[in-house]
Amino acid sequence: MKRTLHCLTIAAVLGLSSGTGSARAAELPLRVVTLSTVLTEIAHEVGGDQVVVTGLLQPGVDPHSFEPSPADMRAVVAAEVVFASGLNLESYLDRLVANSRAGGIVVSVGDALPRPFAMTAPSDLVAGTSGADHAPFRRELDPHWWHSIENVRVAAGLVRDHYKLLRPAGADIFERKARAYLDRLSALQAWVADEMSQLPPARRQLVTSHDAFGYFARDYGFTIHAISGPSTDGEPNARHLAALIDLIRREHIPAVFAESSTNPQLMANLVAETGVRLGGTLYADGLGLGAASTYEGMYRHNVTVVVEALR
Ligand SMILES: [Zn+2]
Repeated sequence: MKRTLHCLTIAAVLGLSSGTGSARAAELPLRVVTLSTVLTEIAHEVGGDQVVVTGLLQPGVDPHSFEPSPADMRAVVAAEVVFASGLNLESYLDRLVANSRAGGIVVSVGDALPRPFAMTAPSDLVAGTSGADHAPFRRELDPHWWHSIENVRVAAGLVRDHYKLLRPAGADIFERKARAYLDRLSALQAWVADEMSQLPPARRQLVTSHDAFGYFARDYGFTIHAISGPSTDGEPNARHLAALIDLIRREHIPAVFAESSTNPQLMANLVAETGVRLGGTLYADGLGLGAASTYEGMYRHNVTVVVEALR
């Protein structure tokens, strides 16, 4: 369904660019709204001063529970293009599309990525699915696509292509700025590969608060053991928690990780119960403050914390 949405938005762009859009409007900076901190960075980096970006999500805000305010909706109505994380991360997305500007477009970035990751989560990890009338496992797409640098490369290309369609006169600028950003991502990928080489495969077990690192795990060969499911709003049940405690002891897992925008109490309880070391705090749901306020900074932080705690 969301993939259909993406196709529709592309059609809308084509219709817009060949339609009656005034020449005057095309000279103004492109008005962009983003629904994630990572997309805010990409939108800025690729667009430069040709775009005005309004990011609705501030660093540290939990995207699973975010709800747009009336002011946010006004920004959406004024935008020519909205970049959403997609993959069902924004529960309000259909409402937002219904309210978006006539002729404006909503691009569901995650749904346009080539390899969405379907996780099979025990249903007792997924909010609202516990109980005998449900299957023991439930498959759902992992919306945390930015934990694969390769996905961020695709997202940057998608943003560039939409900018070029909406502002053909700036095509060379968008192309050049996207290339510079992709070069930085290449450098980041090389750095991560070097760091990961310090970590033997058997040590690549990641115990986190919620199941947000599936793409990271896929790229670097980790196994994820999360207290909660792919959203932060689920309460883990006692049986799952007991199994996790058992696993930490049996596998001699040296460290576990808290998350910057997730309730720290669950992980604190696990640490108290097992005596396992708290390896540090990871950025699971977007960019943070200070050194983690850029994508590169956020990613370097996560990799450094994981490698130092587990090697
Ligand atoms: Zn999350």
